[in-house]
Amino acid sequence: MSIDGDVPGLVVVGGSDAGIMAGLWAKLTNAELPVTVVVRDAYPNFSICGLPFYLSGETPEWQMLAHRTVSQLEDAGLRLLLGHEAFAIDPSARTVHLRDPEGDCHDLAYDRLVVGTGARSIVPPLPGVGLPGVHVLHTIDQARELDLAIERGARRAVLIGAGYIGTELADALTRRGLEVVLVEMAPAVLTTFDPDLGELVGAEVRRHGVSVRTSTTVERIAADEKGLRVLGSRGLDTPADLVIVAVGVRPETDLLVSAGAATGARGAVIVDAGMLTGLDDIWAAGDCVQTHHVLLDSPSYLPLGTTAHKQGRVAGINAAGGHASFAGSCGTQAVKVFDLVAARTGLRGGEAAAAGYQPVSVTVTADDHKAFYPGATPVHVRLTGDRTTRRLLGVQLIGAYGAEISKRIDIAATAIHAGHTVDVLSDLDLSYTPPLSSPWDPIQVAGQAWTGSVT
Ligand SMILES: Cc1cc2nc3c(=O)[nH]c(=O)nc-3n(C[C@H](O)[C@H](O)[C@H](O)COP(=O)(O)OP(=O)(O)OC[C@H]3O[C@@H](n4cnc5c(N)ncnc54)[C@H](O)[C@@H]3O)c2cc1C
Repeated sequence: MSIDGDVPGLVVVGGSDAGIMAGLWAKLTNAELPVTVVVRDAYPNFSICGLPFYLSGETPEWQMLAHRTVSQLEDAGLRLLLGHEAFAIDPSARTVHLRDPEGDCHDLAYDRLVVGTGARSIVPPLPGVGLPGVHVLHTIDQARELDLAIERGARRAVLIGAGYIGTELADALTRRGLEVVLVEMAPAVLTTFDPDLGELVGAEVRRHGVSVRTSTTVERIAADEKGLRVLGSRGLDTPADLVIVAVGVRPETDLLVSAGAATGARGAVIVDAGMLTGLDDIWAAGDCVQTHHVLLDSPSYLPLGTTAHKQGRVAGINAAGGHASFAGSCGTQAVKVFDLVAARTGLRGGEAAAAGYQPVSVTVTADDHKAFYPGATPVHVRLTGDRTTRRLLGVQLIGAYGAEISKRIDIAATAIHAGHTVDVLSDLDLSYTPPLSSPWDPIQVAGQAWTGSVT
């Protein structure tokens, strides 16, 4: 059976960052092109990145997480098939097989197809991980379930994994009044930062009453009449009303792989710079594909909303007959945890060495703005450059919320993207007024320290 009114054109599978960007940019490129977006759930164009702030209560209603409403998307020319799951693609017949909300199956013809099926949370095979009360967080429905559990009286939470989602959730659940235990296998929280910098965030989390158990591996989850217990190495035995597993994501590639697409880094689908898979007229974007990293020769997997937006745009333009290519990422990310912000871009020293660079790193601390104006706070900067080429390779920043940490990392991200040397940082014409900065921004202070040490 075909979907009523089915007109081949562009079909997009996935209605989050990548899929919606693809649909909207396709319409901007060719307003006449029929664009149908197939979405498994009922939440097109919602901010997954906003889920921790809904759970904290800072964003009181989940509906507020919509980047655009359904009617705004329809006004932009997208036909939405909500609650429809694509379960197979037939590339030779140019058809997507769908299951509708009633469970009936339909075929949807396409001329061109973009797949943005995203990622799903990794659930390690721990005994007890399937017990009621054990959650993951990747969708609106999962966030609403968690919210309900809190509303029904959950008071003790154990978070497994202290990456950026685990630390954001430690903040969120503490704000909701829960007692939180944060368990991390690595020696410090925020494993995408050097451990001594991650520890600054660890101290911030502890300062707000969270119990942080680093170098600790969860081995099993048990249930008794009093609730859940999380057990692991180093004597971990913690009671909980709810447990959230936040140990990363894996690309959702079943559709593309069964249609014949090849996979690469971390099992993500291989695409070219135009986001074309190896399959005829099938593009893919976002968390389901691997990413070109501007500093690495090898492909990487960087499941981030920023990347999904850019890749979705490129896929949509190309699928609509335009010409665009994805320029690559440098792994820029920022996270706010209580009153601190941690941000990074590019490679850390160890990552750079593993990629064949000759990294030299310096660490400086500089005020975010002139000390004579009230409220100055320290910004910790670790800057890494290549000894031979002097190319800027990476920056990690930790500082107070309000100290413009994320926009400061964007200076470094821009410089890396442009292929600048560390020395060029001092030439950049950055803004200055005493309440906001200094004549030399902390990024430039770090650059000068590096330049002075690598002669
Ligand atoms: C809690 C949390 C916080 C985050 N915070 C940040 C942040 O601060 N900054 C940042 O850059 N990134 C952040 N991310 C990552 C970011 O949310 C993802 O990188 C981004 O959502 C990826 O977008 P996507 O469109 O590729 O995939 P997803 O958002 O995973 O969406 C996949 C879409 O495909 C649909 N779908 C999947 N399979 C099918 C199917 N078979 N048929 C039909 N539809 C299907 C889904 O319903 C969904 O609409 C966060 C992620 C989480 C979980």
